[in-house]
Amino acid sequence: MAARTLPVEPLVPFKRGAGVTTAQRSKLMGRVRQAGTAPEEAVAAWLRAHKLGYRRNVRTLPGRPDFANRRAGFAIFVHGCFWHRHPGCPRTTTPARNHEFWLEKFASNVARDAARTSELEQTGLRTITVWECETQNADLLAEKLAQLLEAQPRQGLGGPNE
Ligand SMILES: [Zn+2]
Repeated sequence: MAARTLPVEPLVPFKRGAGVTTAQRSKLMGRVRQAGTAPEEAVAAWLRAHKLGYRRNVRTLPGRPDFANRRAGFAIFVHGCFWHRHPGCPRTTTPARNHEFWLEKFASNVARDAARTSELEQTGLRTITVWECETQNADLLAEKLAQLLEAQPRQGLGGPNE
């Protein structure tokens, strides 16, 4: 991100270095706790329950997806609704203070996400974006991830360690 001054409240780490204010953090964490698990953990639990192996934060794939299994042919990004701008989601708010800064930052996040997804898809992996709010609802999460069960295992791609 460009070197710009962030808004006035102290920034605290929340998710992979993304900065949010303490007020926003409490709000987000409160929502997360309602479901009992962090978004990534909900996805991991679903994958385990369906006996789909995975690696996390796969640096050897473009965009470093949160989950991937090359042999099974899938990659998953788990995105926070606020930071990654889940379309139509009530969590996708824009702070009034430093409005321009936020618009710029969000536009940059969205553009980067689109590029990452596109690069991953070019590797032939079925790429799924799971939104934070979907991980808080077991039905929505199952609906989103069910397409992984239809994914065809890919032949001749990936090594034994993938
Ligand atoms: Zn959402």
